[in-house]
Amino acid sequence: MLAAVLRDFNNLLLEDIPIPDPGPGEVLIQIQSCGFCATDFKAILGIRRNVDFPLVPGHEPAGIVAGIGSHVTHIKEGDDVIIQPSGYCGLCQYCRMGMTHYCQESYTTGGDGPDDVRPGSFSQYTLTGANTVYHKPASIDFDAACQTEPVSGAWKGIIHQSEMQVGDDVVIIGTGSIGVYCLMVAKAAGAGRLVAVDLSDYSLSTAKRLGATHTVNPKQVDAKQAIYDIMPDGPDLVVEAAGPIEAVKLMVSLLRRGTRWNVFGITTPEEFKLDGGLIHFLEARMDASFGTNPLAMQQAIRLMQRDLVDPKQVISHRFPLSEISQALDVMASTKRNKVIIHPNA
Ligand SMILES: [Zn+2]
Ligand SMILES: [Zn+2]
Repeated sequence: MLAAVLRDFNNLLLEDIPIPDPGPGEVLIQIQSCGFCATDFKAILGIRRNVDFPLVPGHEPAGIVAGIGSHVTHIKEGDDVIIQPSGYCGLCQYCRMGMTHYCQESYTTGGDGPDDVRPGSFSQYTLTGANTVYHKPASIDFDAACQTEPVSGAWKGIIHQSEMQVGDDVVIIGTGSIGVYCLMVAKAAGAGRLVAVDLSDYSLSTAKRLGATHTVNPKQVDAKQAIYDIMPDGPDLVVEAAGPIEAVKLMVSLLRRGTRWNVFGITTPEEFKLDGGLIHFLEARMDASFGTNPLAMQQAIRLMQRDLVDPKQVISHRFPLSEISQALDVMASTKRNKVIIHPNA
């Protein structure tokens, strides 16, 4: 089968590798669509260094069941499915408490986080555990369905962790990739004022089209001042979905009594300061969110099924796997939203 194999940083090769066989409790899926996440991009370029080679990237997949191992009963060959790229055992204390993203035996197919990184889905086939596979509703096509993982991450951060309420004034810092899904979830959940902050006017125009009430480009204005001009009392909820530490610092400079912050985008070990007494008297609250779990995946599927979040509004480019290097070039540009790879096109 054809797969994009990362042999070293900046060395992504198209290779012919064996199709794996599903063992007990495993499923083999022929991948129809796989989103290109910034996490993949950062691994390929060496912007994130926690990569063991070889790596087959790609962790936003949907496809068709091509084979099942023994003891797999909830799906059969030929079913259309969505893969949760964060695998879990279902038996450890965290899994049994419903927090499978804390699983002690966790693995990822092509993603970041767990030590156990298995081949991802920039590949014609992916092997994974049966408990990570969800039926794809017929009303959601493969390109939209493969976005279940990032949509679920947005739902988990905004709704489950930060408990956004209807009418909340929300600021999303970074609307280039996952942030735009945070924005769509916040819109669907009834945000009052919804401010998108991004360095790219292209991303901001997308955010505006998808429901941002205001946009702020820190390259052009003092972002903090611009946000207080929009909401003089400060925001109810601020989500840092950007990555750079500057975005986190901007987030914690935006506050009112009871403000909630979500450390959502940054994954690198960098520091920022907080004023203890101020935080105490404001009752400011900091949440964080990473990865996904079955609850978030099911909620994301429901949001898409009910047309509350439509990932196709965000997809700007599609490439067959054979053109992965062109896709990589597009990922490096600021004039793109979601890029989708079709491994079996
Ligand atoms: Zn991702
Ligand atoms: Zn577990």
